[in-house]
Amino acid sequence: MRRGRRPKWMIDIANERMNILFSMAKKEFSVNPDRSHRYVSLARKISKKYNTKIPTKWRRSYCKKCYKFLDPSKNSSIRLKQGKIHIKCNQCNEIMKIPYINEQKEKRRAKIEYYSIKKRNNE
Ligand SMILES: [Zn+2]
Repeated sequence: MRRGRRPKWMIDIANERMNILFSMAKKEFSVNPDRSHRYVSLARKISKKYNTKIPTKWRRSYCKKCYKFLDPSKNSSIRLKQGKIHIKCNQCNEIMKIPYINEQKEKRRAKIEYYSIKKRNNE
C-alpha cells in the first residue's frame, strides 16, 4: 500500500474501528484488563497503518509510555495542576501532562456561541 494520506472513507473506517476497540477495552477492563491492553495496541496499530490519529475522546485513556489502557478509577489518577491535567499511569508511574487551556477555550467558545444564538433568536 502507498504511504501518505489515506482517502476519507478509509480514515472513517479506521476511526470507527478504533472507537469500537476503545469502547470494548473500557467495557472489558474490570473483567479482563489484559484484553483491554491488547485492544489498545490493536487500535494503535490501526492508527499507524492508516496514518490517522487516535480519536480525541480516547487519547487520554491509554498510557503514552507503556500503552496500557487507563481507567481513572482503577489504574490511573487524574490531578489538576497549574492549568494542566496530570494523568498518572499506575502501571509504569508515567505522568502525562495535558494542558487544560484548550478545554477552557472550548468552553468559552461554546458559551459565546450559545449566547449569540440566544440573542439571534430574541431579535
Ligand atoms: Zn504506563
